[in-house]
Amino acid sequence: MYLLDCYIEHPVRSIDQTFTYYSEEPAVPGIRVMVSFNHRSVLGFVEQAAETDETPEEAGKRLGCEIKPVDQILDQEPLITEELAELARQMKQDTLSTMISCYQVMLPSKVKPKTTSQHIIEEKWIRLCDGEVSLTPKELEAYCFLRDNGPMKYAELRQKYPNQARALVTKGAAETYSMEKEAASVKTGIVTAGPELNAEQQAAVSEIESGSDTVYLLHGQTGSGKTEVYLRLASHALEQGKQVLILVPEIALTPQMISRVSERFGEELAIYHSGLNPQEKYEQYRMVKSGRAAVVVGTRSAVFLPFQSLGLIVMDEEHDPSYKQDSQPAYHCRDAAIFRAEYHHCKLVLGSATPSLETFARALKNVYHLVTLKTRVNNTLPEVTIVPLRDAMKQGQSYIITDVLAQKLEETLRQGKQAILLLNRRGYHTMLRCRSCKEPLKCRHCDITLSYHHATKTMVCHSCGASFPIPRECPSCHSREGFATYGFGTEKLEQEVKDRFPSARVLRMDADTTSVKNGHERILNAFGKHEADILVGTQMIAKGLDYPDVTLVGILNGDEGLSRTDYRSCEVTFDLLMQAAGRSGRADTKGEVVLQVFDPDHYAVVAAARQDYELFFRMEMNYRHAAMQPPYTYLISLTVSSRQEEACEAAAHAMLQGLQGPFRTIGVIPLPRRRDSFRSRLILKGQNLDAMREAVRSLFETMPDLRKKDIRIDVNPMTLE
Ligand code: ADP
Ligand code: ZN
Ligand code: ZN
Repeated sequence: MYLLDCYIEHPVRSIDQTFTYYSEEPAVPGIRVMVSFNHRSVLGFVEQAAETDETPEEAGKRLGCEIKPVDQILDQEPLITEELAELARQMKQDTLSTMISCYQVMLPSKVKPKTTSQHIIEEKWIRLCDGEVSLTPKELEAYCFLRDNGPMKYAELRQKYPNQARALVTKGAAETYSMEKEAASVKTGIVTAGPELNAEQQAAVSEIESGSDTVYLLHGQTGSGKTEVYLRLASHALEQGKQVLILVPEIALTPQMISRVSERFGEELAIYHSGLNPQEKYEQYRMVKSGRAAVVVGTRSAVFLPFQSLGLIVMDEEHDPSYKQDSQPAYHCRDAAIFRAEYHHCKLVLGSATPSLETFARALKNVYHLVTLKTRVNNTLPEVTIVPLRDAMKQGQSYIITDVLAQKLEETLRQGKQAILLLNRRGYHTMLRCRSCKEPLKCRHCDITLSYHHATKTMVCHSCGASFPIPRECPSCHSREGFATYGFGTEKLEQEVKDRFPSARVLRMDADTTSVKNGHERILNAFGKHEADILVGTQMIAKGLDYPDVTLVGILNGDEGLSRTDYRSCEVTFDLLMQAAGRSGRADTKGEVVLQVFDPDHYAVVAAARQDYELFFRMEMNYRHAAMQPPYTYLISLTVSSRQEEACEAAAHAMLQGLQGPFRTIGVIPLPRRRDSFRSRLILKGQNLDAMREAVRSLFETMPDLRKKDIRIDVNPMTLE
């Protein structure tokens, strides 16, 4: 018999140990099994399998526990390959999470442990069988068609030979069988040559290809031709019969990357992002596993696809926060990408106009190999005009669209060009306050002020998504004087643009307009085809978009993000401004950018206006150094959530007491309530990350009760909000 050590879906999520079961059938590590645990049938992953001559009783005696049989073996072949198992072990160490949670995050939900009840869709196929039968001439025709083109989907044959297909089966000339449904092909078969690379791009390609390092940072202005460099590197990897993974931060960016990739290569392309339904994801997963897909374009979780032989990984916009997973395990896609590049002996190219401070600091220290593209392909940077909002408002101008912006919009429309207006806030008004007591309306479930959305005429919580009608009276003072409105979001901006430029065609892209399937794609396609003149949107529209007719970008309330308390708020704001500005003037016409801000002298604004990353990097590094913030230190954040305020604080204080080591602990910090949960946070800050991790690990060992609590562990958090 075989003894199998399995990680199971334990009801207590943070239990991280294997349990032993036996099986008479052989089984290998990495497959899934059904086992019983506390009288429940749960899913497990085989971690280790050992053959033994013992009986289950003997083995149980030796191990000091009863050993039960495995109920069912679910896979023939391991889902978790040796490579992925090794990666899971590293992720577990790095992110201080459980093994099972690492396995869960690696697999598409159709094969994820907790959702095996979902059915995998099968299709009916038909193939010839041996043996002699007599056929009518028409049946013979169908037979020959199947012989020459089969095996094929039964439905396909039925379509061509509606009456004969079934006869072939009943007469025994052919048989039907089931196959898992496969993804429709996105192979274009067409290969178009890209533009000839300029000298700088050519040098970048050679430097990366001839280098002996694994990780490269390709740093270049927006529009400096980084994507063309990726595509050239990719084509060389494909020529060697290898697979290529291209990671993009958001699904909004996948359509654009997909069309560039699929136009360039005739190869099979897989697409993997959170907008796919479970069946679609599963089909893409299988395309990669079978080796059918040569190129994959995907978001964060695509880094775990079962590649057989990777020749290149590209991580575009490597600084983007969506590469970090919010839920547990709070892994960073970059770490997984580095692991996989090392495993496959291939190169990882991180690309960005605004690399994260950590990455650029590493590149300067030669931990990553720095390759720079200095000039934009069209050799012009957009011209940036800073509009101080306070001055404009003093002069009685609109605080939404100032005179300067209005003038330039008009000019753009007159020339038949396109404009993008970025406002990183959705909804109509950002706040409603009681006219009597001045209290803002807040979410009932979160300590968050509600935004007013005009389309639904409701107040919406941007934290939990709940929506409420506007109350008749103030919940605080019961006054019926009504509410005053403050601030504006994309919905109101769209309205304002339409009012002031009635002949302009306006599209809006934000979480509200893209919640439908392919919402992003539809809006971007329409804008790309110049079916609209002005695109209004949140940060979704700031990144990656490449539309030659866009010659004006307006950034509204551009420095709003600076007022946040997060240690990365300047970096995030700078990135957003740089990225947004980079959408302007990418083709032959020079681009313009209007930056409406409250603090025109802030270094993040000044550096963004000059499109000068290194200036920002130097300034920001000084501030980070003074405050001993990352990358000069490491952080681990521990966040307890509970419905009970006291329980939450008590757990946080207990952790604070229990944490010891060469680091500082900051806390207990109360956070705004979210979804009816109180939250308290502790932060570990220090220079020895391993010691910090070890302290957290031993905290959970010495205080096992903590495991039953809802505690989010985030090593190297990207945000502390
Ligand atoms: P990035 O990824 O750095 O933002 P892209 O690769 O998207 O830059 O290039 C910006 C624009 O310039 C794109 O429209 C692209 O097609 C074009 N482009 C890039 N490289 C060249 C080249 N060598 N010759 C002509 N056009 C190019
Ligand atoms: Zn009131
Ligand atoms: Zn809420």
